Amino acid sequence: MHEKAGHPGEQQQLFDTEAPPWELDDAERRWVATLVIPGGPRQEFDYLVPDALRPRLSVGQRVRVTLGRGDRPMVGYCVRLEHRAVGVRRLKPVNELVDERALLSPAMLRLTQWMAEHYLCPLAQVLDAVVPAAVRGKAGTRLTTLLSVPTKVAARLATLDLPKKQAAILQYLAASSEPLTPAQLAQRIGCAGSTITGLRRKGLIAAENRRIHHHAATHALVAREENLALNADQQLALDSILASLRSQQHQTLLLHGVTGSGKTEVYIRAIQEVVGYGRQAIVLVPEISLTPQAQERFRARFGRVAVLHSHLTDAERHAHWQEIAAGQVSVVVGARSAIFAPTPHLGLIVLDEEHEGSFKQDTAPRYHARDVALRRAAAEQVPLVLGSATPSLESWHRGQTGEYRLIEMPRRVFDRPLPAVVTIDLRNETRDHVWTGSISRPLHAAMREALESGGQVILLLNRRGFATHIQCAGCGHVVRCPNCDIALTHHRQSEIALCHYCDYELAAPTRCPECQFIGIRYSGLGTQRLEAEVRARFPDYAALRMDTDTMRAPGSHERALAAFRNGEVRILLGTQMIAKGLDFPDVTLVGVVNADTALHLPDFRAAERTFQLLVQVAGRTGRGPKGGRVLVQTFSPDHAAIRAAVRHDYQTFAAEELPNRQALSYPPFASMSRLVVRGPKEPAAREFAGHLAERLTAALARHAEHAARVLGPAPAPIAKLRGLHRFQIQLQAALPEPLHAALREAIEGVESPEGVQWIVDVDPLDMM
Ligand code: ADP
Ligand code: ZN
Repeated sequence: MHEKAGHPGEQQQLFDTEAPPWELDDAERRWVATLVIPGGPRQEFDYLVPDALRPRLSVGQRVRVTLGRGDRPMVGYCVRLEHRAVGVRRLKPVNELVDERALLSPAMLRLTQWMAEHYLCPLAQVLDAVVPAAVRGKAGTRLTTLLSVPTKVAARLATLDLPKKQAAILQYLAASSEPLTPAQLAQRIGCAGSTITGLRRKGLIAAENRRIHHHAATHALVAREENLALNADQQLALDSILASLRSQQHQTLLLHGVTGSGKTEVYIRAIQEVVGYGRQAIVLVPEISLTPQAQERFRARFGRVAVLHSHLTDAERHAHWQEIAAGQVSVVVGARSAIFAPTPHLGLIVLDEEHEGSFKQDTAPRYHARDVALRRAAAEQVPLVLGSATPSLESWHRGQTGEYRLIEMPRRVFDRPLPAVVTIDLRNETRDHVWTGSISRPLHAAMREALESGGQVILLLNRRGFATHIQCAGCGHVVRCPNCDIALTHHRQSEIALCHYCDYELAAPTRCPECQFIGIRYSGLGTQRLEAEVRARFPDYAALRMDTDTMRAPGSHERALAAFRNGEVRILLGTQMIAKGLDFPDVTLVGVVNADTALHLPDFRAAERTFQLLVQVAGRTGRGPKGGRVLVQTFSPDHAAIRAAVRHDYQTFAAEELPNRQALSYPPFASMSRLVVRGPKEPAAREFAGHLAERLTAALARHAEHAARVLGPAPAPIAKLRGLHRFQIQLQAALPEPLHAALREAIEGVESPEGVQWIVDVDPLDMM
């Protein structure tokens, strides 16, 4: 059991609303609301609930209180209500309710409690992340006075002796099918507001204050589509999910289906079953996959779909949230935060492209939607379906151990072939000294051929090229850390090669240790120049670059894709952004310009990311009758990740990569946390990181003994960002519990010096 500030040992009773069973004199007992207060101190606070508020207050609602000696006005979330003896301690009262109804169900409150503990984040901050700002701010609603004629008055309307105007007002209002605002009534009758006020004073008109939406959520009308006839693989997959649904028990199913195997169709059928029970489904997809086509696919099958994408206005977001909470929506489709959708009767959670990094939030609370989904599905006793062509090794490992049920869909629909993937060995290109620029001779020739025969071309370039690894352009050898198996980073100023995990350091070699070639200082391909190079080489074909820099303006992403879809643009160049989820039948060639940039990042998931990227980008081609192929430029054609990607062979990749992870205690074989310290002055940041590392080492020794280690402090791979020097510390332990206990203990009460900031990232994905 964990200790909680202010309430040690009360964990089990958290959120119970029942009065404690022991007998006490009623006079001594009071209703007490326990609050967490965003922007206030981290602990919980107790407040007295005045009798008048008690019937309208429940856990999960926000209330207004004052805090501290200065009586600062604050808003807090009520997380517990108890009828209990208050003792001599004087409590302040709850002043007012902020919400008419609870924003969080008891189940959602328990989920946030788990998040707060697991991700070491204050509960108040978690709650503010779980309840959208638009909902907290009641966006798009107004407090409105609504008038009606009380039934008693209406019954004796004819007998009332009133001036003509007043009688007309009463008659009109009594006959109205809906309550009216004072302004509406005055306008329709043509009377002064004071006349209406007079009637209200006499008690002949009743007034009620209600919060109403002035923009209801709009639902685009989409033509309904019939179900497709499933093929045998799809039917088997569906049967597994349905069996799990009908068992009414939680189970996680990992749907491993190659690109184009028809996974979405399987999700849709499973959701139809759930909706048939009168329950709701949540479908999580990466934000980038929330394309209009993807939205339509769901809208065409289900009447009531809420799509939560990032371009919603606050009023729309709030209206959707209310509709979902009222049970008026069958299917919620959205990115990461849609896992918090307040569905009253959840039946199924689907998480598509489960390997995607965007499911992890990169600000506090640094939650992973997959792990939150797992918790929520288990608590609500519903199945969780994880789908991917390239599952994360974490999920795959659990599929292997039987913790998840693994379902395979190894073929594309209609048995369409997967595209041929071929590597171009840049070592040959370099040795022959025939090559300058980013596009090799074979890639150039293939582009020309594809374009001349009417096809379209996608070129993928990896932009995360800031961390320069040291790779021999002659033999492809990469200089790696002997402790961490991480590519060392070349620091030109000091001419060293540095491990950004453990701080291991080496003088940068001048010759390749393997083949003695002097081209070891190869610095990678000039990705910025790629666009210019493409335009120079293919002036007759329209090219478009798509990355976070060129796609800032809202709608630019959709416009770019539309131009490519209608054939206006023939060559699309882009970053990872273009690798996912797109479906263009005329793309006959995909070129990966620099596969090695991803392969040798100082990140223990570098091989996995590269494999995923290559398989996903290959999935973008060969979708139409023209077929398609993929060319991958690399100095490391023999690397296991690249060899497996060429054969679309996930199983072999996983079987080769998992032992590497195990050997060095990386996830999924160990739990990991990362601390990042940053500050404007390097020595101060370094020193504080060292202090933290010492505390962590001591705490880990107490909690985890041998099965744990602390790596660092070392400069973070991105050693300087926006003027701040960054250091990192990594913790690894065989089991998560001792690691988290040690972490909690080590950081308890730690204050960083002036100007130095630090964060804790539990289960990190971003290792830069
Ligand atoms: P995935 O998500 O596995 O990559 P999709 O669900 O996008 O695959 O399906 C790929 C394409 O195949 C889509 O255009 C989809 O409409 C089509 N499709 C899926 N299932 C069937 C089926 N049973 N019969 C015909 N077409 C199908
Ligand atoms: Zn190292």
